[in-house]
Amino acid sequence: MSVVDRQEWDVVVVGAGGAGLRAAIEARERGARTAVICKSLFGKAHTVMAEGGIAAAMGNVNSGDNWQVHFRDTMRGGKFLNQWRMAELHAKEAPDRVWELETWGALFDRTKDGRISQRNFGGHEYPRLAHVGDRTGLELIRTLQQKIVSLQQEDMKETGSYESRLKVYQECTVTRVLKDGDRVSGAFCYERESGRFFVLEAPSVVIATGGIGKSFKVTSNSWEYTGDGHALALLAGAPLLNMEFVQFHPTGMVWPPSVKGILVTESVRGDGGVLRNSDGKRFMFDYIPDVFKEKYAQSEEEGDRWYEDPDHNRRPPELLPRDEVARAINSEVKEGRGSPHGGVFLDVSTRMPAEVIRRRLPSMYHQFKELADVDITAEAMEVGPTCHYVMGGIAVESDSAAARGVPGLFAAGEVAGGMHGSNRLGGNSLSDLLVFGRRAGLHAAGYAADLARDRPPVDDIQIDTAAAEALRPFSAEGPEPGAQSGRPPENPYTLHQELQQTMNDLVGIIRREAEMEQALEKLAELRVRARRAGVEGHRQFNPGWHLALDLRNMLLVSECVARAALERTESRGGHTREDHPAMERTWRRANLLCQLTDPTGGLAATDPVHGQIDLSRETTEPIRPDLLALFEKEELVKYLAEEELYE
Ligand code: FAD
Repeated sequence: MSVVDRQEWDVVVVGAGGAGLRAAIEARERGARTAVICKSLFGKAHTVMAEGGIAAAMGNVNSGDNWQVHFRDTMRGGKFLNQWRMAELHAKEAPDRVWELETWGALFDRTKDGRISQRNFGGHEYPRLAHVGDRTGLELIRTLQQKIVSLQQEDMKETGSYESRLKVYQECTVTRVLKDGDRVSGAFCYERESGRFFVLEAPSVVIATGGIGKSFKVTSNSWEYTGDGHALALLAGAPLLNMEFVQFHPTGMVWPPSVKGILVTESVRGDGGVLRNSDGKRFMFDYIPDVFKEKYAQSEEEGDRWYEDPDHNRRPPELLPRDEVARAINSEVKEGRGSPHGGVFLDVSTRMPAEVIRRRLPSMYHQFKELADVDITAEAMEVGPTCHYVMGGIAVESDSAAARGVPGLFAAGEVAGGMHGSNRLGGNSLSDLLVFGRRAGLHAAGYAADLARDRPPVDDIQIDTAAAEALRPFSAEGPEPGAQSGRPPENPYTLHQELQQTMNDLVGIIRREAEMEQALEKLAELRVRARRAGVEGHRQFNPGWHLALDLRNMLLVSECVARAALERTESRGGHTREDHPAMERTWRRANLLCQLTDPTGGLAATDPVHGQIDLSRETTEPIRPDLLALFEKEELVKYLAEEELYE
């Protein structure tokens, strides 16, 4: 039996992005002794990259805005597959969460009369995104970090220790959620620098680990996005919801190579940037779908007038939801009207004076100037779809953020499913992090308090199994089930590259049945080979080892995406099937759930060739009538199934 350091907490939050930090603050304020654990340095999470802003119906720039309009936009953007109660809570609570940030020290850009300014974004009817230039995520994390430090200072005064009630374990990775029977009992972790194992014992674990983009070759996501939280939940016995919905942001840089995949924020278009093909045509006017025809300008003149007078003109189609714009760019490139490097042109330089661009989009300007010598005030950018966000995620209860089926497990932020349906609107993630991060912290603390006298014990055997699993890459050579004896170990980097290429080419933005079947075969092969992923050296500073461990997660999550995408025979939001191009009303009622084939969370026992994931369907909960009444009947007819309309 290995001797592993153990520490006791009430709540463990895995992830120190916006969702994790907000959850930790809430849990600590509710009296729970709370630990936060993250792979990167404290303050360096993926959320820092968020640029455009945080969506909240404050009505500061257009008083017509309110939670009902925000709810409508979110449901439309998600093509009505959203977990509607989450969309309702999100629209109602987001303004309070933004105000709260200001009381904790954030400083948003202002309107002329001193209110929090709000900008336009795709799919939002009114200017709704509170922002700090194009560095909103940085300000959000900085503020939450500052709040945590201030809570630690209070604890210092009262208890003599900064870390008595709230501690951050930075540069550490969780590889397993531990359980006592059905209930959560803690987390198995290692320090990335030293490789030392340790256990955080707690009745409540909040997963807030973000997304899965590193399974795809072209992505805007950071290195942390290896789907760990999705996999941790699966391995703990929780289902993942609607994993087929992956958002490809329409405007990632495609050239030069030094910035390939890096995001060009939607506010470039919100502030006046336009998309053109190689003929110089603003092609988005040719791609306005029927469901959106009444809401978008039909001519360039009207679209341009909207920037000055949004009350009397319709918005330009460059601001359609992301899935529509990404598909349009894909079609233009396919028809041979793309830019030299396989994208289209995004031009802001001819639309705004250089100093305005530098002021409104400072990070965009500096980032591309410094990394790629592209001056966005003087030339058009070459852009194309890049894997950006996963709408699918851990299936949670809407009000409490509790993961389904595993008492003590909670999830918030990008790792949780349901809120955004089949497609997320820009700006709705930062607000989601705060609304559901807070709710997760609140309920995790309450659950832990209820178990104060009956804390689930941590099982030594599970610790040993988790340690052995983590150490396997150091002894990867030799026979494995299904492998030939004496084969050399596999290189984790090669496996990762093959996985990324597979997901990009075969389960990417446009999907076809035969290709997804091919992807599943390739994933099965990679899974077998990944069992022999081997590394040299020791546990200190060993990035190859970290990747070998992350591969388990990426392979699990990729299989979920591919299986669910093959099953859903329609096109909706972030899931486009070339062989089933229409959105089918009957599919609106269908959720797809992925669960581990072996319910005990063991991977070794599962058949290495025939997959590790069971897929099932469930019928979505009917939308509450008072929420349906917010829409015109003619609009509902486009989305809802016959029987729903009748009801
Ligand atoms: P993250 O901020 O990613 O935090 C995840 C945390 O989990 C990290 O601390 C990580 O270290 C930790 N972690 C992961 N795995 C483990 C593990 N195994 N063990 C321990 N810790 C782990 N959204 C908007 O609403 N508005 C925007 O303007 C916007 N702009 C964006 C711009 C870019 C370039 C990108 C890429 C995204 C943007 N988004 C935006 C999306 C948004 O930033 C993310 O969806 C959001 O930040 C996710 O936050 P999170 O708290 O869920 O996760």
